[in-house]
Amino acid sequence: MQKTLVLIKPDGVQRGLMGEIIGRFERVGLKITALKMVHPSHEDVDKHYALTEEWMRAVYEKAKAKYEANKEPFPFADHIAYGTEIKRGLVEFLKSAPIVAMVLEGEQAVPLVRKIVGSTEPAGAAPGTIRGDFAHDSYPFSNSQNRPLRNLIHASGTEEEAKQEMAVWFTDAELYKYEHVNDRVQYDPEWFLS
Ligand code: ADP
Repeated sequence: MQKTLVLIKPDGVQRGLMGEIIGRFERVGLKITALKMVHPSHEDVDKHYALTEEWMRAVYEKAKAKYEANKEPFPFADHIAYGTEIKRGLVEFLKSAPIVAMVLEGEQAVPLVRKIVGSTEPAGAAPGTIRGDFAHDSYPFSNSQNRPLRNLIHASGTEEEAKQEMAVWFTDAELYKYEHVNDRVQYDPEWFLS
């Protein structure tokens, strides 16, 4: 069964959305196998966001496309300078206050959680997603304030990323195994056989 790592960022904690966010993951049928509140160190966040030039380029292109779609000029020319600044702000943001870390388990948990979380920019995230329902920050607004998007959540992008990120926030002893009703009702092929 796939596992994925989710962080509720400081804006989610400080807006009192922890219960709502965790509830959405529980309601879709995911199993929480680790959960904690933590005030991260610089090293924790730096390890978590091991951001490469490829990431900087992707962040740059994603934002540029959004500005262009809005017919606004994109005022940044260099993906390294842009990406480095976003990473710096992101590390500051994450280490500024407590966050909640959790591991969610289920069939195709990585893409399922990304779907529930919604796209990076809350203003463009679909209604029904966490970012779309509970935030409305945008690239132009966050860039004008020279800070990262306040989009409530981090969720792993791939299974590989999930493994690396789980090791940043949890020891093996903190990853629990227990029986959940969905191990039967959603996943046991014999559950409904008489
Ligand atoms: P996601 O969190 O949706 O996987 P990314 O990995 O691309 O997004 O970026 C990590 C985080 O960096 C985002 O969640 C957001 O907080 C911030 N961020 C990314 N791109 C930008 C941007 N162009 N402007 C401001 N903040 C950004």
